[in-house]
Amino acid sequence: MTTSQTSLFSDSSLDFFAISLQSGSNGNCIFVSAGNTRLLFDAGISGIQAQQRLATHELDINDVDALLISHDHSDHTRCAGVFHRKFGCALYMTRMTHAVLQQTNRLGKIGAVHFFTSGRAIRINDVQVQTVPTPHDGVDGVAFVVTYRNKKLGIFTDLGHPFKKLESIICTLDAVFLESNYDVEMLRTGPYPYPLKKRISDPAGHISNEESAQLLKSAFAHNLQWAVLSHLSGENNTPKIALATHRKIVGKDNPIFVADRHSVSDRFVIS
Ligand SMILES: [Zn+2]
Ligand SMILES: [Zn+2]
Repeated sequence: MTTSQTSLFSDSSLDFFAISLQSGSNGNCIFVSAGNTRLLFDAGISGIQAQQRLATHELDINDVDALLISHDHSDHTRCAGVFHRKFGCALYMTRMTHAVLQQTNRLGKIGAVHFFTSGRAIRINDVQVQTVPTPHDGVDGVAFVVTYRNKKLGIFTDLGHPFKKLESIICTLDAVFLESNYDVEMLRTGPYPYPLKKRISDPAGHISNEESAQLLKSAFAHNLQWAVLSHLSGENNTPKIALATHRKIVGKDNPIFVADRHSVSDRFVIS
């Protein structure tokens, strides 16, 4: 990101912001701060990585109030138990997600879990988190809309396909982390075996650069301030190709960024 972009999104007087600590099939974790509430979405990176990456923004992971889990896949849950035990994050997930993680012993020893029902809203302090069921191939996957002072931030990855309600929800958002998993041509000609290619492009897999761009084109015609392309494939996409596809479909002037697969992002403010 250029210096001018950084200054555009780093006004410290604004108190609703988000940071991607990592995004991709190698591990996902997004931090959101809204007023006095600090949330993490997914725990697919190590506790040390999360702690160190937040510290680069002078944020302390021990101040996080809650960790919300989108679905059971390991790139979202790998270190959920660690975050809970080591940093005291309250754990939020659906009963089905909890059951599958417990069956496979992926949480370790944990205390009470705050269960939510897919499709219902959760309130944490003065923040509302609406959960949105997704057709992705997790057991009970959700995306999230975080609302603070009437501003809405979407955390939308592992979506399956552009399902019916997705476009209408995205058009209500002020900002979004949106999955842009693969380039159709790279996936088609790439090294993955056919069953894996099919799983990714299947209606229960991930959404492509083109699908993401069509959604953002609609959203930018409404209230969207910025979008961060997320959960990019390491094999079937590149940040450059994802951005080029978006520029072609959405236009050149909208603030569109890419969440990195290995490093922490800038601070993105919702104003
Ligand atoms: Zn994932
Ligand atoms: Zn997944």
